[in-house]
Amino acid sequence: MSCPAFYGHRSIAANSAGAKSHAARLDFNLRRSHKMTHILFNLRKLLFPILVIGTLVCLTPSPTQAKDTWISVRTKNFTLVGNASEKEIRQVATRLEQFRDVLRRLLKGAKFETPVPTTVIVFKSMSSYKPFNIGNNAGYFQKGDDVNYITLSTKLGGQNPYRIIYHEFVHLLVDNNLGNVPPWFNEGLAEYYSTFEIEEDRKVHLGELIPYHLQTLREDKLLPLRTLFAVDHYSPYYNEGSKRGVFYAESWALVHYLILSNNGQHFAQLSQFLNLTDEGVAMDQAFKQSF
Ligand SMILES: [Zn+2]
Repeated sequence: MSCPAFYGHRSIAANSAGAKSHAARLDFNLRRSHKMTHILFNLRKLLFPILVIGTLVCLTPSPTQAKDTWISVRTKNFTLVGNASEKEIRQVATRLEQFRDVLRRLLKGAKFETPVPTTVIVFKSMSSYKPFNIGNNAGYFQKGDDVNYITLSTKLGGQNPYRIIYHEFVHLLVDNNLGNVPPWFNEGLAEYYSTFEIEEDRKVHLGELIPYHLQTLREDKLLPLRTLFAVDHYSPYYNEGSKRGVFYAESWALVHYLILSNNGQHFAQLSQFLNLTDEGVAMDQAFKQSF
């Protein structure tokens, strides 16, 4: 499974000028890790095809662009690599650890140890991220046989970048615990937890409203549930910019409703619905049986 995090179809504008010839001149000046060769190898495996495309397309060098410095930071549960500042990368690491810790307390029984390590690649800007990010996504989770990757940028034109961190981490957790689940559930759940806030390291906020999803739900024509449930990773609603907004907004709203309404009673029904569809029961039948 791979998942582009989508944040506000009206919002992310990457600066393509800054990306010119960037891919050809990336200087992986990594330090401090004995295992970095392994990570580098995998990083290159992931990025090489995009790197080549970026190099071919962007033939004009930008004389003003400074060389990147890539550093790595390790925490208890994550390896982070990035060309953002060390302070920013450490902030991402802290947020990930805090979020993981809160979810671990909330979701007792969930598997938090992943079979393969996860590397988080933190780009300093959307323009820096662009050569590796054909879909112009705000973040991305890529499952792998020997390593999982989360990629993201800490600069999102005024938006809170930590929402992407939480969003992508939920995908990692879902993948680790549930395997294949329908995109509407995976994206809706990731969006639901993406609003995580922690006040003074003590008070946690979950399930906050997301204004641009509310705006989309007010303004756009909603998808029938049958259409929403049928969206897969190849669907236009998952991939096309003009259609993704309503898919993400509606997925978020539905998961939000199923988690919080009626004191959480619907969540057991949702669980049954997912189990039945996973077993191959037709969607209409599974829906009638579960809700
Ligand atoms: Zn996602």
